[in-house]
Amino acid sequence: MKIDFFSAKPYDKLFFDRFNLTYGFDLEYHDTHLGPDTVDIIKDATAICVFVNDKLTADVIEVLSKKGVRIIALRCAGFNNVDLDAAKKFNVAVCRVPAYSPEAVAEHAVAMLLTINRKTHKAYNRVREQNFSLNGLMGVNLFGKVVGVIGTGKIGKAFINIMAGFGCKILAYDIYPDADLIGKGLNYVPLEELFQKSNVISLHCPLSKENHYLINKKTLSLMKPGVTLVNTSRGGLINTLDIIEALKTKQVSALCIDVYEQEEGLFFEDLSSDIIDDDIIQRLMSFPNVLITAHQAFFTEEAMAEIAEVTLDNISKLNENRMPGNAPVMLT
Ligand code: NAD
Repeated sequence: MKIDFFSAKPYDKLFFDRFNLTYGFDLEYHDTHLGPDTVDIIKDATAICVFVNDKLTADVIEVLSKKGVRIIALRCAGFNNVDLDAAKKFNVAVCRVPAYSPEAVAEHAVAMLLTINRKTHKAYNRVREQNFSLNGLMGVNLFGKVVGVIGTGKIGKAFINIMAGFGCKILAYDIYPDADLIGKGLNYVPLEELFQKSNVISLHCPLSKENHYLINKKTLSLMKPGVTLVNTSRGGLINTLDIIEALKTKQVSALCIDVYEQEEGLFFEDLSSDIIDDDIIQRLMSFPNVLITAHQAFFTEEAMAEIAEVTLDNISKLNENRMPGNAPVMLT
């Protein structure tokens, strides 16, 4: 069976080729995104494998089905880029990897928080230039600080465990509080109280219509002056223009983002020789207290191995008309 990959990077090829030794599928890698302009490059594929910025619109899915593609395998958890109704209509199965290493994302959130607080990114560069001065490098102890966690699912839970180990006091908010965590003493509070009392706020909930721009002018004004915000979830949770204002007034003392609402076309690409016409990210990058990484929180060897293994297993089972897993794996 042939599988066409889109948005494929060298690291995708490395992991999928390794795990494909068990399956022996014919894998063809395309570095381009999938969309209406690129769907025609698919030839003789039974399955396609796509990532977060590929566009599976109704017209693309119709072409896929005409070309005999029966399986869309997402090598990620999120599926906001797939028209699931069209997939059902054209009888194309859609599967994903619902969880591939919550610890990877949680550890990256902590790495960003430590970096922005203790300014190790600046210290690294300084020392390489034989500048051993400490001016401007002072941070604060995280021990004893109040950390607000929004979303206490797999990643939020892993993040809480790490921060509790640092001696932080945790306040949590989730629309579905976790009974196990309550049993272990986790303090769930109303969202407003979390905003008012936290020194650090980390977002670990999915993006939905209801929580789009959860962080906005109004909610920012409820927060402790000098709050630090960390977002490794989805860019649309933060109103970027509002947070730029809050950075300018110092209501927000530091911002760490691994996701950005306009990240498509920027993240995952080397644009070092290009002119970037997104003035908003340029403004964000100009702040000394903003740390941006390009959607790399998931990017560990363990997570990549899990993604490759589960994706190929999903495709293999669907190809044999077997169900690869329960509802979280199958989307149609
Ligand atoms: P999960 O489904 O295990 O947990 C999500 C939690 O958020 C659930 O407990 C849910 O009840 C809660 N929730 C939903 N809506 C909420 C709201 N409006 N307010 C508060 N809580 C809410 O998901 P997860 O595996 O922990 O992943 C969380 C998010 O992390 C994903 O949705 C994705 O956006 C993001 N993510 C980012 C990367 C990355 O590389 N940066 C990788 C994987 C996942």
